[in-house]
Amino acid sequence: MAKQQSFADKATKAAAMKGSKCPVCGTIYQPLLLVSSERSKVGASVKFNERRVQVCKCNEKQIYV
Ligand SMILES: [Zn+2]
Repeated sequence: MAKQQSFADKATKAAAMKGSKCPVCGTIYQPLLLVSSERSKVGASVKFNERRVQVCKCNEKQIYV
């Protein structure tokens, strides 16, 4: 008799390997570096803001506009 590994067990292991999972939608977070430029009011200098975000199905629509 062959012992079958359950799908849930495999999924759990995959999630543990790849990173944290969103408890709301169940998607594995994708780390993303968002860079936005900001023009300062004085002069012509441009400031860059770097922001690290974790993307899952809950917020991907807000990020990939
Ligand atoms: Zn989510």
